[in-house]
Amino acid sequence: MGKFKKMMESSLLLERIDFYEIASQLIKKYGLKSKIKMGSGKNYGEYIPETDTITLRPSYSSVKEFYMTILHEIKHALDAKRLGTKKFIKKYTQAGTMAQYDGLSPYHDNKWEKKAENWAKQEIRKYIWITGFYLIYINMLTFNLIIKI
Ligand SMILES: [Zn+2]
Repeated sequence: MGKFKKMMESSLLLERIDFYEIASQLIKKYGLKSKIKMGSGKNYGEYIPETDTITLRPSYSSVKEFYMTILHEIKHALDAKRLGTKKFIKKYTQAGTMAQYDGLSPYHDNKWEKKAENWAKQEIRKYIWITGFYLIYINMLTFNLIIKI
């Protein structure tokens, strides 16, 4: 019973997860120097190539949602670093325009968005494991166990 109570309490950890800290650890891990801005926007996250800034929400409804968001934005930052900011913006805009020509969304059907989403889906396996009722995520220095949500 005591053990169960302890686990129940740990599910409340989500409220206290330091999203900023985990995000900066991940950014460093991928060799980036992107800045983080905790926004209050409607978007889950955003990457601003001009200033190499990743915007995040102050909180997320699940650990998985948070990791998918930060990893997605990290992929944009990696692409921008690889191609150079100007070239990345140009290519991103071109892909958006092409999607629009086909009557699709310049954002959701943008190939760079799909790339980032697929990459995040692959990478998240390194940081989150679901075992039984539990979700374990890695915070670089510590392993955290929370109840699956
Ligand atoms: Zn994106």
